[in-house]
Amino acid sequence: SDHQLEYPLSPEEMDWSKLYPEFKDPTTGDMTKKVTVADIGCGFGGLMVDLSPEFPDDLILGMEIRVQVTNYVEDRIIALRNNNIESKRYQNINVLRANAMKFLPNFFTKGQLSKMFFCFPDPHFKQRKHKARIITNTLLSEYAYVLKEGGIVYTITDVEDLHNWMVKHLEEHPLFERLDRTWENGDKCVSIMLNATEEGKKVERKKGDKFVACFKRLPNPSDL
Ligand code: SAM
Repeated sequence: SDHQLEYPLSPEEMDWSKLYPEFKDPTTGDMTKKVTVADIGCGFGGLMVDLSPEFPDDLILGMEIRVQVTNYVEDRIIALRNNNIESKRYQNINVLRANAMKFLPNFFTKGQLSKMFFCFPDPHFKQRKHKARIITNTLLSEYAYVLKEGGIVYTITDVEDLHNWMVKHLEEHPLFERLDRTWENGDKCVSIMLNATEEGKKVERKKGDKFVACFKRLPNPSDL
């Protein structure tokens, strides 16, 4: 249960410098960058660890609801930073314990994010549990709000039924358009997503399928 979780009243209330101290301007105290990449339900953080060196100028945030898992990722990132003090690697990733299905606009301003990852989300197999899935029409409108025009939603799962569900909802949503296979093949994040996450590695060991779908955030019709 997440009722004791705390949320900022607005994105301005968040003290991001605690998560990314290297990106705090020492004279003004302001952040020099904003979070632009979110890993929703980041689990043990493998995706962020691999994205970090590829996108050194982006702040990457994992959101994870489980306490112990969040603590593990925090420790993992502290260790990575301590082992890379000279090169200052891994300063651009961190994790936040949060229910990503609630109050995302309290963390991010409109159009702040350029990428959102949904890697191996919990499948909630039973019909009556489908409303608990992390991709639903209501939530897609929130994701569209925090994503900038041209931003990307990345999804991957080993559960074909969930894949079809995510594709259906994203395709039906007026603010998202699916990207084709050629685009996927040329995108660095797709290959990282296929190999980096702990869940993905588990699926790999079991020789399971991995279903990928990526979507571009379209302009608001009113802005055209
Ligand atoms: N993305 C990781 C990977 O691929 O290895 C983890 C996949 S795991 C199957 C799903 C994760 O989503 C779990 O760690 C779970 O705690 C987290 N989760 C589920 N619902 C969530 C929510 N509403 N907000 C944040 N995290 C959530």
